[in-house]
Amino acid sequence: MFVEELIRVLRIFSDTLKTMKSLDIHDLKAILDITVLLTHKQDLELSKIGEVNIKLHRDLIGKIKTCTIKRDIDIWYASFSVEINDSLPEKTVIKSAVGIDVGINPLVALSNGEKKKPPKYLLQSEHKLAKEQRKLSRKQIGSHNRNKQRIKVAKVHRHIRQQRADFHQNLSKKLVEKYDFIAFEDLKIKNMMRNHHLAKSISDVSWNMLQSFTTYKAEWAGKVVTFVNPKNTSQECSSCGKIVRKILNIKIHQCPYCGLVLDRHVNAAINILNRGMKKVGLGYTDLMPVRGLAQDKPMTQEAHDFSRG
Ligand SMILES: [Zn+2]
Repeated sequence: MFVEELIRVLRIFSDTLKTMKSLDIHDLKAILDITVLLTHKQDLELSKIGEVNIKLHRDLIGKIKTCTIKRDIDIWYASFSVEINDSLPEKTVIKSAVGIDVGINPLVALSNGEKKKPPKYLLQSEHKLAKEQRKLSRKQIGSHNRNKQRIKVAKVHRHIRQQRADFHQNLSKKLVEKYDFIAFEDLKIKNMMRNHHLAKSISDVSWNMLQSFTTYKAEWAGKVVTFVNPKNTSQECSSCGKIVRKILNIKIHQCPYCGLVLDRHVNAAINILNRGMKKVGLGYTDLMPVRGLAQDKPMTQEAHDFSRG
């Protein structure tokens, strides 16, 4: 009953928005006030969404097409999709390029040898999550305490999600500022290649985040993001192209054919870059050498040069 009413109210809310050409923050507050009034009229218990004091994460520009209301445990989100008349910028001349290998640790390895470890705060949160999940498993099924603990776990999950989002917003911003051309592995293909019995890990979601943030930022900056076939990116030698088989825990790529010795993930990142450039018809001569993400502190640096045979 409550849910049905709520959906009805939100539909009115959404329709109201659609009829407006553009919106500023004051209008938005006004509309939300109406929503609240409507809901009160229905005499609904709306303690969860009552007092709709909104926190506008960014200004709304353009014509609102849709409004989606979503609940995340105890927080409500209203997200808007808008139509903007501005056209995207012309593509910039590509002067710098990077290939990016994503993983667990390092989180990312760049084709220029830079690696980024998972930040400490994220590891701490993951540790906390494991602890709360252990507590949950000890609570009696169906008990009030178990339910309380379940919410606690969900909140830690949410916190990690937000931390990841912040991290990836930041990283994608730096990547787009620094590079005109960015190549990633196509994760959709990678997941298909994978044994389907393997659970889809949280990190996949995280990588989708990094890729989509980077893609839309790049579009607005006139830069290029491309996705390549991930097959054998970690097995292929980035120097001679031969396949050098190695199991997961082997961290160094050591090529018996051409002698290249390189960090496993960096080798993969170079392959990703090579494939990306091949895809769009770029050669090394078209590019200026570029090093790293400027303001990053905790980076381990290894093997900066492309060693080409
Ligand atoms: Zn080789």
